[in-house]
Amino acid sequence: MSTIPSVTLNNGAVIPQLGFGVWQVPDAEATPAVRTAIEAGYRSIDTAAIYENEVGTGRAVAEAGVPREELFITTKLWNSGTRDWSGAAGRAAVRQEFDASLEKLGLDYLDLYLIHWPRPMHGTFLNVWEAVAGLLDDGRVKSVGVSNFGIPQLETLIKESSVVPVLNQVELHPYFPQQELRDFQAQHGIAAEAWSPLGQGGELLSEPALVKIAEKHGRTVAQVVLRWHLQSGVIAIPKSVTPSRIRENLAVTGFELDAEDLAAIAAVQTGVRIGPDPQGFDWN
Ligand code: NAD
Repeated sequence: MSTIPSVTLNNGAVIPQLGFGVWQVPDAEATPAVRTAIEAGYRSIDTAAIYENEVGTGRAVAEAGVPREELFITTKLWNSGTRDWSGAAGRAAVRQEFDASLEKLGLDYLDLYLIHWPRPMHGTFLNVWEAVAGLLDDGRVKSVGVSNFGIPQLETLIKESSVVPVLNQVELHPYFPQQELRDFQAQHGIAAEAWSPLGQGGELLSEPALVKIAEKHGRTVAQVVLRWHLQSGVIAIPKSVTPSRIRENLAVTGFELDAEDLAAIAAVQTGVRIGPDPQGFDWN
């Protein structure tokens, strides 16, 4: 089993740098997929209330037979615009959503709870953040963070709240490396976590420059891309339901990308996202 490096977060918690994501995995399929992942050696699992697979994910965690404290389980708050997230009502709603996720997962604590999107964009995310941070008080969540936040929203949290997110989970891959956001986060002790780290398995994985690097190292392009994340200090959470790929995506130690490889990977950047821009999208 390969040894995956870890990242120490700004509150001292430690997260494996490679985790297993389960977006678009139906609940029933989540159980065998997450079990395969844990058996392969993944110790970090990333789900979300909106993925509707917390029950299946939790079942796999229960069945896997790995001590709870060796696992790092993340889920996310879906702060949809159909509810009032301001004031006391918002704080109660956050607690209700958190309790529901914990119950579905069958867990008595979470390692990490994230705000899924910074919405409503110009209103209540600070209130939601204070409510999420308040969950730390009773010990049922060890770390809190955000997802899809941009520099303006992070600046608000840093200025207005006493709790700084441990990480920000955003779209990040060689086509869209998020350098400016990563630099900002590094200055403020906020780790970078990549969603769609493999570019959702699209054309990135047949990009000629990356194919060449993969051939040079006798690895697959997916492994080269995940190695790039690790060497960039980024936490990555690739998804697959195919057992061989689940194992392949974890086997990214034992080789090193050199300066020439890293320069070639930097050159494939297009600045084009696969997903929507969280700064310009109406999530309500
Ligand atoms: P990804 O980049 O992990 O790509 C997954 C796809 O790549 C798979 O469905 C498969 O088609 C392909 N693939 C995986 N391994 C492969 C391999 N070794 N060889 C060839 N193809 C391979 O994309 P993702 O699922 O969008 O992102 C990963 C995780 O990030 C999600 O499961 C989820 O947990 C998280 N995520 C979070 C957000 C958010 O808003 N916070 C958004 C999207 C995803």
